[in-house]
Amino acid sequence: MIDARGVHKSYGDHDVLRGIDLQIKPGSVTAILGPSGSGKSTLLRVINHLEKLDRGTIRVDGDLIGYRRKGQRLHELSEREILHQRSKIGFVFQNFNLFGHLTVLDNIIEAPISAQRRRRKEVEPLARDLLKRVGVADKANEYPRRLSGGQQQRVAIARALAIKPQLILFDEPTSALDPELVGEVLDVIAELSTSGVTLVIVTHEIGFARRISDTVIFMDQGQIIEGGPPDQVIDNPEHPRTRSFISKVL
Ligand code: ATP
Ligand code: MG
Repeated sequence: MIDARGVHKSYGDHDVLRGIDLQIKPGSVTAILGPSGSGKSTLLRVINHLEKLDRGTIRVDGDLIGYRRKGQRLHELSEREILHQRSKIGFVFQNFNLFGHLTVLDNIIEAPISAQRRRRKEVEPLARDLLKRVGVADKANEYPRRLSGGQQQRVAIARALAIKPQLILFDEPTSALDPELVGEVLDVIAELSTSGVTLVIVTHEIGFARRISDTVIFMDQGQIIEGGPPDQVIDNPEHPRTRSFISKVL
């Protein structure tokens, strides 16, 4: 589903991603762990071309992200092509990022209608089903500010699902939530983890990562230090930096 090779990204002279190679299988669940500033968010953002990479390539489901190959050279896609590509990948942000001026229902049907050109008649019942699935069916006509953080994040997950993505990227989906609201969001993600959608989740919830992921990746200073099944990377890390990180967050 994801095939990243030799991905580099810098801001000025700060190398934020330093040669990322990453293969993620369709339908799998991958948790990304790592200290603050290690490049986790940047990695998610280059996967759907919210940031441009400087070197390397990323393919999602076989499609080269952000570029088209012409002979030896890569040409950047047009804005429209990029939006089209991005409309196939769900993204759930730490701060929900719902549209404040739209109701919950309109938040969910926005991308399917405007980016995917689907019909309101088809999308609206689907949106209501999704709201039911994440447990906020009664909030369809509310504005986001009237919802709790946990409810807003569940709406954001429903919105990500509405585009029928093959892949959903989560960037610390629970770290802006009050502790008592974390569980309800993790439960929704756990339910998704068995649904066949490929999930990539940046999280500090180590117990959750152990429970739901097939693969855990530990990043530090723009590199993948180690990756493997949770019982290896979390319970029996090979690399001293992974060991030190896990012992601090557990
Ligand atoms: P956290 O756990 O705190 O979210 P992270 O692993 O997600 O950290 P990134 O957000 O990917 O880290 O940032 C990696 C580094 O890149 C940081 O040092 C950050 O300051 C820098 N950085 C990120 N975005 C930009 C930007 N737009 N311009 C300049 N520097 C940036
Ligand atoms: Mg981050």
